[in-house]
Amino acid sequence: MSDSIKSLLIVGGGTAGWLSAAIIAAHHRNRPEGSLKITLVEASDIPTVGVGEGTWPTIRNTVRTIGIDEKTIFKECFAGFKQGGKFVNWVTDDDFYYHPFTVPLGYGQMDMAPYVEDIEDFAVEANYQQEICEAGLAPRSLAEGEFQSVCNYAYHLDAGAFANILKEHCKTELGVEHVIGTVKDVERNEIGHIGALKLEGDNGPFDLSADLYVDCTGFRSLLLGKALDVPFVSNEKYLFNNKAMALHVPYESEDDDVACHTIATGQNAGWTWDIGLTTRRGVGHVYSDAYLSDAEAEANLSKYIGKPLGDFDVKRISFQSGYRARTWEHNCVAVGLSCGFVEPLEATAIMLVEVAARYIAENLPADQTSMEVTAKRFNKQMDYRWSRITDFLKLHYILTKRPEPYWRAHCDPASIPDSLKEDLAIWKHRGPIKSDFDGVAELFPAASYQYILYGMGYKPDYSRQAYLYNQEQQADRIRQKNQLMTQQLLQSLPPHRDYIEHWLEQ
Ligand SMILES: Cc1cc2nc3c(=O)[nH]c(=O)nc-3n(C[C@H](O)[C@H](O)[C@H](O)COP(=O)(O)OP(=O)(O)OC[C@H]3O[C@@H](n4cnc5c(N)ncnc54)[C@H](O)[C@@H]3O)c2cc1C
Repeated sequence: MSDSIKSLLIVGGGTAGWLSAAIIAAHHRNRPEGSLKITLVEASDIPTVGVGEGTWPTIRNTVRTIGIDEKTIFKECFAGFKQGGKFVNWVTDDDFYYHPFTVPLGYGQMDMAPYVEDIEDFAVEANYQQEICEAGLAPRSLAEGEFQSVCNYAYHLDAGAFANILKEHCKTELGVEHVIGTVKDVERNEIGHIGALKLEGDNGPFDLSADLYVDCTGFRSLLLGKALDVPFVSNEKYLFNNKAMALHVPYESEDDDVACHTIATGQNAGWTWDIGLTTRRGVGHVYSDAYLSDAEAEANLSKYIGKPLGDFDVKRISFQSGYRARTWEHNCVAVGLSCGFVEPLEATAIMLVEVAARYIAENLPADQTSMEVTAKRFNKQMDYRWSRITDFLKLHYILTKRPEPYWRAHCDPASIPDSLKEDLAIWKHRGPIKSDFDGVAELFPAASYQYILYGMGYKPDYSRQAYLYNQEQQADRIRQKNQLMTQQLLQSLPPHRDYIEHWLEQ
C-alpha cells in the first residue's frame, strides 16, 4: 500500500455502494485532479436487495450535499414525503400512535409530558405533525423552497431508481469510475490487508486494487465478512424477525391519496410496512419464522392488501439480525448490508450508510498510521450505534399488551438489552430528555424515544420530583401555540399528492 490514500475501490452497486460513492466523491470534489481516484465495481448478474424505500430526515441534507435537486428525486424515484411513522396495533389489536419527525414544541427547554393528562395524547398535544399526517397533507406549501419545511420530513422512494440517479450523478458530475465485474477472489498481502481483487468481466478475468476498499456487497459481505473473516454479532435474542416478503401494490386509481408517513401495522408475529410512492405502494411483512410459518405470513399479507398474493411478484428475503464485530478492518470498511442489518422498523439502514460514508469522506486517512486510528474510532462509534439501534427498535416492542406468544416473548426481561433496561430505570421517574442523547454517535434524538414511549402509554412516575413540574403556565402556552399552528397548517397545507403534482409542474 502506498503511504497516502490515493485510490478507493467501492465494491457493490446497490444503494450503499452508490450512496457511499456519491457522498465521498462530493466531499472531495475540490481535491487536485488525480489525487483521489474513486472506482465502483459491481456485478451485472448479482441483483441488489431491491427493497429499502423509507428514509430518515438526514437524507435531505445528504441529497443536497451530493448536489442532486429535490425535484429530480421526486420525479425519477416517484418519491413521496415521509413525515414519520404511524404504528398501528402495536399496543393492542386496535390502536395507533405516531412517531413524527418534528420534535415536540418547547423541546430542549421544557418537557411537555408531565403536563399531558392522557400520555397517549403527547404527540398531538406537543406537536402538530400527527394531525398533518392524519389529514394526508404535504409538509410544505408551494410557497416554500426545496428542502425547506416547517414539518421535518424524509422521503419514500423507489430504491432501484434512487441507485440509478446516484449512479448517473456519480459518473457524470463527480468523476467516479464505473466498472462491471464479478469479484471471484480476494487476495490478501503479507500483512493481512486486502492486496487485490480477482474479477471476471465480459472480456475475461482482470484484477483491481486500491489503497482502501469499501465493501458494499450486501448480505454476502464478501470483503469484510468472507475475506477478512470479521465475525458476525447476532442480536436475534433481542430482535426476533428474520424473514420478509415484499411486493408492489398498484393504486386503485391514479388520484388515490399517497400516505405521507410509513404505516407499520403489528401482526400476530411481526409487522407489515406500507410505503406510499406516487405510482404505487411498497408493502411488505417482516416476521420471525420461530413464530410464524411462511404460509401464515402470506395470509397476513394477503389480508392486509385485500387481494390474493398470487396476483403479485413477491420478493422473499431471509436475514440474520446483527452486525459485524468491526466495521473497518485493515484497509477495508463495510457500508450497508455487508456491515449489518436489523429489521427496517425505523428506516435505519440507509441512514447508517449516510453516517458511515460521511465518516469515511471526512476522515479519509492520509496514511497507514492514521488509518488504524480512524478505524479504531469508527468501530467504537459503530458498535455504539448498533446497540443504540437495537435498543430503540426493541423499545417499540416492550410496552405491548398484545397476547400472542411473539409479543409476550418480546416483553420477557431476558430479551431486553441491559442498556435499554438502564435507560428504563432512569425514565421510570422522568422521561427521556435531550441531554440523554447528546453524543456525536447518537442517531435518534430524545424526542423519538418520547414519541414511542408515550405513544404506547408509558407514563413516568413524576411524583418523586413533583416540585420540578410547576410550569403549568408555560405548558399551557406551548399547548395553545401548538393548537394554533395545527389549525393554521391544516388550513394552509395542500393534500400530499396535489402538492407533488403541482410542484413538479412548476
Ligand atoms: C425487507 C427489507 C426492507 C428494508 N427496508 C428499508 C427501509 O425502509 N429503509 C432503509 O433505510 N433500509 C431498508 N432496508 C435496508 C436497505 O434495503 C439496504 O440497506 C440498502 O438497500 C443497501 O443495500 P446494499 O447496497 O448494502 O446491498 P445490495 O442492494 O444487496 O447491493 C449489493 C451489491 O453488491 C454487488 N455484488 C454482490 N456480490 C458481488 C460480487 N461478487 N462482485 C461484484 N459485485 C457484487 C451486487 O451486484 C449489488 O450491486 C431494508 C432491507 C430489507 C431486507
